[in-house]
Amino acid sequence: MQVFQYRPKRRAIQIGTLALIVLIPATGLFRIDLSTASFMVFDHPMWWSNIFFVFGLGLMIATAPIITYMTIGTVWCGWACPQNTISEWANNLTHKLLGKRANVGIDSEGLKVAAAKNKALNWIVLGLSFITASLLLGIIPFLFFFSPSEVWSFITFSSTAKISGFMRPLYLFMVSLIFIDIAAVRYFWCDYICLYRIGQRIFISKEALHVKYDTARSADCAKCNYCSASCITGINPTNIKLEDSCINCGECIDACNRLHEKKCMHGLLQFRFGEDSSINTLRGYLARMAAKFNWWVGALFLFGCLMFAWGIFKTV
Ligand code: SF4
Ligand code: SF4
Repeated sequence: MQVFQYRPKRRAIQIGTLALIVLIPATGLFRIDLSTASFMVFDHPMWWSNIFFVFGLGLMIATAPIITYMTIGTVWCGWACPQNTISEWANNLTHKLLGKRANVGIDSEGLKVAAAKNKALNWIVLGLSFITASLLLGIIPFLFFFSPSEVWSFITFSSTAKISGFMRPLYLFMVSLIFIDIAAVRYFWCDYICLYRIGQRIFISKEALHVKYDTARSADCAKCNYCSASCITGINPTNIKLEDSCINCGECIDACNRLHEKKCMHGLLQFRFGEDSSINTLRGYLARMAAKFNWWVGALFLFGCLMFAWGIFKTV
């Protein structure tokens, strides 16, 4: 049995997603050209009059989240979403420097800093780490609106172009927003502001991927709350309700598996599709998912993809 079954894979996907978000505009795959108010795909302009491209893109954006709600549940949040990646990193660093119970978020009930760690040096390291991360992340939005060479000349202060005149204050504004997000907002965004999350609350079902607790072995849990202590959103994995903020990260599953490793047993938590415990093969899951899937939404998504591809094909 692996010590961490999910965490290394999740970290790889989180880093890969951040890299993709940088590479998509940096390579010219997709960008927005402010001077002509057009989308740039493979460095070709896509005008608003390209109805296939615009309508296809709109359909894809509207239906893709609903498909994820019905199939992989909250996996996007736990495994790829940059907001969660940044919040998780900020929480881990805060706990390392200020103690396990420290919480500097706007929704915290006081700072709860460990007395032994309440040192100026720890606060300075934490603050400098957040500022450095904000300075780096603040560059990313600009890649979607300017070419990498323009962004580079702006970063290296080598540009005398007019563009730098408004980019600098805009960049400082962006860095300030990101700093506030990293330092204090974190999961408050997910819980109260994120539109994707609001959609999840409307569309999610038990048919989608979720964490399942083995109630038949609940006696094993006496005096143990290791999974709750490991949960990055602070919920109880042995009793997850549909409306809870579980992000399918798998940390609780890894924790319980590690606990049972010495006894050569699996833990009491595992990922499951649907409620039918007699289905436990991938083929079975896929068949059940296909039976429950809303094919109207699937068809609209496919139609959007085809229109989008055709809109690009006839322009490029
Ligand atoms: S870590 Fe496992 S054994 Fe411990 S409370 Fe959670 S499910 Fe029960
Ligand atoms: S309950 Fe488990 S899978 Fe859900 S957020 Fe908590 S640790 Fe992650």
